[in-house]
Amino acid sequence: MSSPLEDAAHAVAHGRCVIASTGAGISAESGIPTFRGDSGIWKKYPPEKFATIQAYLANPLEVWGFWVEIGREMAACKPNAAHVAIAEMESQKHLHAVVTQNVDSLHQTAGSQRVIEYHGNVRRLVCTRCRHQEPVDLTNPPKLPPHCPCGIVMRPDIVMFGEYIPEGPMHEAAALAEKCDVMIIVGTSAQVYPAADLPFIAKQHGAFIIESNIEETDFTSEITDAFLCGAAGETLPSLAKRVRELS
Ligand code: NAD
Ligand code: ZN
Repeated sequence: MSSPLEDAAHAVAHGRCVIASTGAGISAESGIPTFRGDSGIWKKYPPEKFATIQAYLANPLEVWGFWVEIGREMAACKPNAAHVAIAEMESQKHLHAVVTQNVDSLHQTAGSQRVIEYHGNVRRLVCTRCRHQEPVDLTNPPKLPPHCPCGIVMRPDIVMFGEYIPEGPMHEAAALAEKCDVMIIVGTSAQVYPAADLPFIAKQHGAFIIESNIEETDFTSEITDAFLCGAAGETLPSLAKRVRELS
């Protein structure tokens, strides 16, 4: 009998190139809150004051402190069953890559090998002038934002509001969206562009769209073929299990 889970599992099991595209919702069950909505972090810390490069340059101490705190909270969290299911599907050659909007490294910690970080990573610093990158130890972060060997102040390597996506991840993600024949969207609200374009690009190129979310989004009625309603920590392990049975 056909059901969204059964349709999704068949699509993944027989897919030629399966991509996952994940947002903040996949990490919610790891204890990292999503940023939007009434209890989201942007209600307390307005993004124009804490998540723009202008704010960082004007007020580096306060904005550095904010990102260090967010990074410390993320670093204390562990991958959940949804991250593990994605890593498992990749290790069993059913999944080609993950494009994530998250900056928390939880896919990598869960064992995913090919992770395209669309919005950067809070555990890394980058120089705005020479692009030199350095890891930051979030268990013992420097009190002040460090300086690059080239002399200017480094910043968290995350895409802030109003900034472009770095060229490498942007092109890689767009190429994967065009190439894939199945895309699994997990825990993303369809509100953050250009990340929200990726499922539409995949659909235009004929991909089967699986969506995991606790509620419907703008993707659901427009492009989703199989909607897995519920917490990703439950629906993705069920998907991975059924894919295993079918292979
Ligand atoms: P969002 O906060 O706008 O939307 C999150 C989506 O996840 C919502 O649609 C919500 O219904 C869904 N969701 C919540 N709990 C879920 C669960 N248990 N299972 C499945 N779905 C669930 O997130 P977004 O669209 O990713 O945009 C916010 C941006 O902020 C992201 O692009 C990301 O860069 C950044 N962000 C990152 C992190 C992180 O790294 N963990 C956390 C918050 C925000
Ligand atoms: Zn530099």
